Order: sequence, then structure tokens, then C-alpha cells
Amino acid sequence: MRKIIIAIDGYSACGKSTTAKEVARILGYRYIDSGAMYRAVTHHFLERHVALTNPKEVARALGEVSVQFHLSAKGDNETFLNGLNVEKKIRKMRISEHVSPVSALREVRVAMVEQQRKMGKEKGIVMDGRDIGTVVFPEAELKLFLTADMLTRAFRRQKELLEKGDLVDLDTILENLTVRDTIDSTRAESPLRKADDALGLDTSHITIDEQVDEVVRLALSRIIRPRAGRP
Ligand code: C5P
Repeated sequence: MRKIIIAIDGYSACGKSTTAKEVARILGYRYIDSGAMYRAVTHHFLERHVALTNPKEVARALGEVSVQFHLSAKGDNETFLNGLNVEKKIRKMRISEHVSPVSALREVRVAMVEQQRKMGKEKGIVMDGRDIGTVVFPEAELKLFLTADMLTRAFRRQKELLEKGDLVDLDTILENLTVRDTIDSTRAESPLRKADDALGLDTSHITIDEQVDEVVRLALSRIIRPRAGRP
């Protein structure tokens, strides 16, 4: 069957990765969490105490970074940085608090986008992030832009962190989401925005199952009827 690229963009904690992961599993596609790549770079920069204002330091540290994904025994995608599993570390609030300024750097984006495009060469991929439909795969056959109201997003993120053993108060999460939204959508380099041909999906009042069903339905319609009118 013909394979396509599915690009899922949107703000943090709108259910992008949960949806993307499940859609990929159903279609037998590869799932790539591009945010995990920026988080891994941020982890490396923090470990190396890289000054973001120093282009030489940034370039050197970036040259040391190799990010890969491997499936765990449970079938979860886990992020590896230079051969080490950093999946747990990159989900911590400390990384969330530093990731947006790192991701705003042009050099960082160029390096990550190059790797992301290589991963999508064979198609059959679901990638989520901020610039997948606009910059990484502007030719993606299906583009979605997820949104949700702020409180819903904050509660979802709090639950996610708690499941990983991190108790973070709601105000801290709200503050982090707000700051990241602002930096991500106002930066000069590939700011977060909806691609003109992306379909908007407000996830505030729908379940994950409903989100997944809708995306799978749209994907199948693109796979089966590539040139037909958009559903
Ligand atoms: O998706 P997640 O919230 O894990 O992404 C973490 C951060 O990585 C975002 O807040 C954003 O700054 C950056 N990011 C990005 N471009 C992407 C994916 C993530 O700039 N494609």
C-alpha cells in the first residue's frame, strides 16, 4: 500500500505524541517525536554548560550530539543520546524549562531538521512537533494542527509527569507552557504556526480514542484516494 507522511504540529500537551504514537501503531508506521530530539540536545547543552550566546560553543556541542530512537521491550519509543538512554531525563521539568531557547537557535534547527528529513525519506512516518508541516515536510500528505485550552493542557501535563513520578504544581506547569508557547511561536527561526493546508483539531473536549480515530480516518483517505478531494 502507498505510504504517506503524517505531520502533527501544535502546542505542548495537546495530545500530539499520544495521538501520533497510536496512529503510527495502527498504520504500522514509524513514529518520531521531534520534540524529544530538541530535548536531548538541551540535555547535552546543560551537561556541557554551553553558553547559548556563544556560536562556537554551540557548534562544538552540537557536533557531539547524535540522537536515536529505539523501541523498549514494552514497545515504547525511547530516546538515546550518544548511545545512552535519556528518555526519563529529557521529560523532567528542568529540560522543559530550558528547551525553548535552545530550540530557537538556527544551528540547532538546521541540524535537527536534516536528521528528521532523513528519517522521513522512506515515508510511512508520523512525526510530531512544531514545524513539521511548515518546514520539515511541507509536502506531507496529511498535516494536522492540534490545539486545546490552556487548563486542559496543564492538567494533562501534570498527570503525565505524575505517572513518571514527578509531582509538579499546576502553577509551575501553566507558567512553563505559557513561556514555551510564547518563545516557540515568536522565534525568528521556523516559529510554531499552522501550515495553510493543515487541518485544525481542537482536542479540549474529545478523548484520545476519538482523536486517533479521526486521524486514522483522514490518513486512510489520503492513502487510498491520493488525488481525490479532501475529506
Ligand atoms: O513536543 P515537546 O513539548 O516535547 O517539545 C519540547 C520543545 O522542543 C518545544 O517547546 C519546542 O521549543 C521544541 N520543539 C521545536 N520544534 C519541534 C519540536 C519541538 O522547536 N519540531
